[in-house]
Amino acid sequence: MVTENIRVVARIRPFSDQNKTNQDSCLQIHSNIIVNNDKNKNKSYTMDSVFDTDATQEEIFNTVGAPIVVGFLEGKNGTIFAYGQTGSGKSYTMHGPLSAFNSFDALNVEAGIIPQTICEIFSALNEKKKNDPQFEFSIKCSFYQIYNEKCYDLLQDNNNPLKIFICSEVYVKDAKEVEVKTFPECMESFIDGLKRRRTAETSMNRESSRSHAFFKISLETTELDGNTTRVRSSCLNLVDLAGSERQSQTNNTGAQLKESGQINNSLLTLSRVISQVLKRKPHISYFDSELTKLLRDSLGGNSKTTVIVNVHQDAKFIDETVKTLDFAKRVK
Ligand code: ADP
Repeated sequence: MVTENIRVVARIRPFSDQNKTNQDSCLQIHSNIIVNNDKNKNKSYTMDSVFDTDATQEEIFNTVGAPIVVGFLEGKNGTIFAYGQTGSGKSYTMHGPLSAFNSFDALNVEAGIIPQTICEIFSALNEKKKNDPQFEFSIKCSFYQIYNEKCYDLLQDNNNPLKIFICSEVYVKDAKEVEVKTFPECMESFIDGLKRRRTAETSMNRESSRSHAFFKISLETTELDGNTTRVRSSCLNLVDLAGSERQSQTNNTGAQLKESGQINNSLLTLSRVISQVLKRKPHISYFDSELTKLLRDSLGGNSKTTVIVNVHQDAKFIDETVKTLDFAKRVK
């Protein structure tokens, strides 16, 4: 049984050099995606939306981010993931280059879903408060990185893994949760965490993201409804997943092989969990990975989830592209 609360969309990354001629694309984009090469003859994938190479960051936000923000402001949880191989445009889609949101006065056209989401949340809440002085809100954010099946805090200099507990709700022991009152304050926390993630990657000599980055925004609102006070709370998870490429193709050995194995396992668990939620199975395997543990409160129920699969247009990545599109099929 399919619930309309999980949507799957695809975004196609343009060639790095748009001006070069004779570049080989293996995808035909209509309302669906058709893969056509020697191995895959007219293999068709249906998505809720397909964003071709010329889609703007604003278009992506309007289709993917905005409906989830509306639900979040009404007390519904939301989650957005970006899934795909390294270099396919996950980080570009989720946040964009740092230069696109360094100035908080105006977001640049390259600002991705996270800065646009934060901007939209604060502008909607401030507008509501202007019209209703009794309305109060509190926003907190946290930022985690899951690396080798261990959860690390990106908002503090603490290299010890954090323990995730699941009681009545998910609780991450000793994690830093920052209360933010304005759009710039929230962006500062996000940028702070992003820089910590980059530093960790550089110290490991990595060009690709081998960790899942998990930015969480929690909201509590209070308003008067007649004579009663109504309190609502919701959370929004914005997740830039680790590159999904398979270990067989990356010539990994030793520690890197273990790393790839952990990534593959957690992505497999994620697809299993989403598919169990979709089928409304009585048992959902949240406990099988750190990533799905963190998501326990925000997948299923009345929450809204969108999975973005990022793929290259370039035919040289066709095998990974087909695997990514197969992932999309499994969670749809
Ligand atoms: P990933 O996070 O999947 O490893 P990135 O988001 O870092 O991939 O993208 C790799 C490169 O491609 C970056 O230089 C990024 O700016 C560029 N890129 C990705 N998607 C787009 C796009 N839709 N338009 C323009 N450039 C893009």
